[in-house]
Amino acid sequence: MRSTMQDAPLTVGRIVRYATSVHSAGEVATFDGEGCRRISYGELGKRSARLANVLRSLGIRGDERVGSFLWNNTEHVEAYAAVPSMGAVLHTLNIRLFPEQLVYITNHAADQVVICDGSLIGLLAPVLDQMKTVRHVLVTPGGDGSALEGMGADIHDYEELMAGASEDFDFHPGLIDDERDAAAMCYTSGTTGNPKGVAYSHRSIYLHSMQGMSAEGFNLSQGDKVLAVVPMFHAMAWGLPYAAMMCGADQLMPDRFLQAEPMARLIATERPDVAGAVPTVWGALLAHLDANPVDVSCLRDVVVGGSACPPSMMKGFEERHSVRLIHAWGMTELSPIGSVGRAPVGLSPEETWARRISQGRLPCAVEGRLVDDDGAIMPNDGEAVGELEVRGPWVAASYYHNPDMPDDLGEEKFRDGWLRTGDVGTLTPDGFLTLTDRAKDVIKSGGEWISSVDLENTIMGHPAVAEAAVIGIPDPKWDERPLAAVVLRPEANVSFSELRDYLGDKVAKWQLPENWVFVAEVPKTSVGKFDKKVLRARHAAGELDVTTF
Ligand code: AMP
Repeated sequence: MRSTMQDAPLTVGRIVRYATSVHSAGEVATFDGEGCRRISYGELGKRSARLANVLRSLGIRGDERVGSFLWNNTEHVEAYAAVPSMGAVLHTLNIRLFPEQLVYITNHAADQVVICDGSLIGLLAPVLDQMKTVRHVLVTPGGDGSALEGMGADIHDYEELMAGASEDFDFHPGLIDDERDAAAMCYTSGTTGNPKGVAYSHRSIYLHSMQGMSAEGFNLSQGDKVLAVVPMFHAMAWGLPYAAMMCGADQLMPDRFLQAEPMARLIATERPDVAGAVPTVWGALLAHLDANPVDVSCLRDVVVGGSACPPSMMKGFEERHSVRLIHAWGMTELSPIGSVGRAPVGLSPEETWARRISQGRLPCAVEGRLVDDDGAIMPNDGEAVGELEVRGPWVAASYYHNPDMPDDLGEEKFRDGWLRTGDVGTLTPDGFLTLTDRAKDVIKSGGEWISSVDLENTIMGHPAVAEAAVIGIPDPKWDERPLAAVVLRPEANVSFSELRDYLGDKVAKWQLPENWVFVAEVPKTSVGKFDKKVLRARHAAGELDVTTF
């Protein structure tokens, strides 16, 4: 029997129409280092209409991709609102990617237009001529777009085009054919090979936004002010902008002022209730606050995820600054909410703490199971350790395929309708996830991936090097930093600083290993692969004579 209910599509346009009318008094504020510039949701509606008209005039008619190369700021929220609502697809470009990867993802997504932050022109200029599909660049205030001229794209002043555009645009539901169509894209940072594209649907964003508002999620509601420190190019700022629009919460955007000192000032003066960032950001803020205390107790729901949050950081915030951190786990492929560490009521203080420092509880929409190396399902008994697989309405079912480009579909990540997360851990009968390890050996530095394999391959390109293995070692500031273990060719001679210089123009600066050791050989598994577990154990046992600079 079919239901008798209406089938109203769940779309981003519905969220934006609601926010900009019913919650027209809501606010988006962007920090400029001193104070904030502000627009209301009502004005956001008008500016989104202008942007949609600008993009139409530049030839965006259907589901073409519009790239954003922006900090977390008002212009980025305008792109979040306008681009999916007009039927196009927002592609949030990670400004920290290595140039080759930036070129790859722009070409792979076939971005037609890029909205570039005035302060980021210097990062776009060296690669724009390789972005084959980009026809127009809109430059937001704060920089001189002339550095982008002559590279195959027309360069426009964002505010000039906005001023000349009509503030009437009918974001009617018919602009979207199907709620399952793509609304926005994010690429994962490639751990091996190229980054892979995740295309979120209108429906997945809508449902995920409801989770953001839920008391089991980020607990966001009208009257709150939310500070999204997590970049809007990293898993859609964890969905915070859309969840805020859905409930009319105010949004506070840090722009490029991400260091602890301005962040503390921003929190103390603007008094947000909800915030989200990776452990590195909160760790730096905690160290700053310990030395320079200001009142940040306005923060009620502070979500920390992207890497494991040290329990000592949770305790430090709670005991010294009256702020309770909430640990969460997620992935770009999960939109990204996977689990949130809110303890059930009625537990002892010890049990409550154990739940809070775990990666959290999977919500109703995200089913999880643990699988062993042979693919057998393991019990959710809090003991058995396996690779986590998940499925649900905001979990990726595949990566985006561009038929015109060679790409890596990462097919090994998807099995029988489940996403293989690559994360290894336990699940309790009441749904709490604890991660114990990563299936892959990727290095997580400051919330961003560093591919150990890419580093190894590059180091092994040096004529003096026979073998190189790179592992992540604990770092108090960045969580992990790479350690390169190098085997020299017989009779070869090279110093660590020469090797580092050799990497200088081949890998991103922040990925350069500062820890080095020469070893007689890299330990190997039975099938001849580098055995990094053994290497890590040797490092932990203090057996490696590491040079750090
Ligand atoms: P990304 O797609 O860049 O957000 O990275 C997702 C990965 O980050 C996950 O697969 C985990 O390995 C890691 N991760 C995210 N949150 C946590 C957490 N709370 N604890 C440990 N690892 C995490």
